[in-house]
Amino acid sequence: MLGASAFFRPIPVSAAEAPRFAAYPFSLGVASGSPRADSVVLWTRLAPLPLREDGGIDPLPFEVRWEIAADESFRRIVKSGTAIADPSRAHAIHVEAGPLEPAREYFYRFDAGDARSPVGRTRTAPAPGHGDERLRMAFASCQQYEQGFYNAHAHLATEDIDLVAFLGDYIYESSWGRDHVRKHGAGEPRTLADYRVRHALYKSDGNLQKSHASAPWIVIWDDHEVENDYADDRSQTLDPHFLARRAAAYRAYFEHMPLRSSVLRANGEVRIYARHEFGALATIHALDDRQYRSHQACAPEGKGGGRLVGGDCTERLIESRTLLGRDQERWLDEGLGASRARWNLIAQQTRFMESARPDGKGGFIHWTDGWDGYPGARSRLLASIAARKPANPVLIGGDVHANFVADIRARAGDSSSPILAAEFCGTSISSQGNTVRVTDEIRANNPDIAFAESTMRGYVLLDIRTRRLEAKLRVVETVKQPGAGVSTLASFAVETGRPGLQK
Ligand code: FE
Ligand code: CA
Repeated sequence: MLGASAFFRPIPVSAAEAPRFAAYPFSLGVASGSPRADSVVLWTRLAPLPLREDGGIDPLPFEVRWEIAADESFRRIVKSGTAIADPSRAHAIHVEAGPLEPAREYFYRFDAGDARSPVGRTRTAPAPGHGDERLRMAFASCQQYEQGFYNAHAHLATEDIDLVAFLGDYIYESSWGRDHVRKHGAGEPRTLADYRVRHALYKSDGNLQKSHASAPWIVIWDDHEVENDYADDRSQTLDPHFLARRAAAYRAYFEHMPLRSSVLRANGEVRIYARHEFGALATIHALDDRQYRSHQACAPEGKGGGRLVGGDCTERLIESRTLLGRDQERWLDEGLGASRARWNLIAQQTRFMESARPDGKGGFIHWTDGWDGYPGARSRLLASIAARKPANPVLIGGDVHANFVADIRARAGDSSSPILAAEFCGTSISSQGNTVRVTDEIRANNPDIAFAESTMRGYVLLDIRTRRLEAKLRVVETVKQPGAGVSTLASFAVETGRPGLQK
């Protein structure tokens, strides 16, 4: 496995001068992310021929100039510098641009040789303890490339927002599903070179590039950035070389995302769970429920991964089983206790609400890969919210390719039990959803679910203000043809001091 030292080996100083590229080197666009009050990460990657393993560029370091300006025409450049695009990082750069002013809009671009990148727009967070009175953000997940066009991103890019949170399944390792509109053109990635090509394929989409260029992103991964339903060190097929594959996938993910280099840890851990603070208004506690989790309960003989289980799977109920790992659970509990923010968003990969459905024989079936497979871990998080009393907790998630909106009670489905939070589990950008029958059965079985819809693709907008949070479920007409329109499927509100959805 490659440790951090491999990433930080000294970079030769004599970066190639006046480089000439085989084609336009900014073929994957630009991105910004991990905004703080005083800095933001600026990302790009030099890849003249992005679908080639070597990116169509010599294996040498190249100098990239970056500029960040207060205006879109770059008359008022506030910071600039150079970074080295090194082959050890697939010629990607992650500039931590700063110091910048809090709660400000900025524009950025890059130059390499005589090529100039598109312009990206970004925004810093408000200063600690201060408003903005408002945070407008979108969250999204699950963009299987073959199953649909990124019409959702085309619209997301034109929303007037400060932030995008992407909650996982940014790439898919596997080909699956109905009615493909385009193809991966390759099998499952296993090596670093394979994962780089898969990220490059996804990032070559013009709508996704526009979405990145429109606002800073915070990102967490789910399973498909590596392999379907993996859990910590265990793959679905019990691949003995899985940790090497995971390390390659994590590294390619880092290379293609606007993450801070500090996420790379010396022990091979890639620490993507993080707290993102937006002044006095909001803190986003962004979680990683893949890297540290217990293996899924009651996996079939010789296999890993999730499945549907009934009441005979008692392993599911073992209290100590964890989705976040002990360290992250403690970090979250302490963070919920220490937060002084008016709103506390818990951003995670999957559906948190109870989503069992009847088995037709008087019992229930549970999906073991989500929180339903880890009820002890869910109870601990609910107990943490109840004890630490962070102001106005709201859960956001993805993974299930459907919109699910619910009140989260201390005891699900018990109307005498207090509501602790609201949950918005957002639909996918393009990945196909479950059947209407399954969705309706889940909803019918849990009275805390206010809304469930699995046939529409899109994203969720959150407009967060001092006294009120509004959520809009935005859905596109279709993902099977490019250029489709967008509309609001449903809207919800949460008011401060009143946990759960406003009735
Ligand atoms: Fe997904
Ligand atoms: Ca997933």
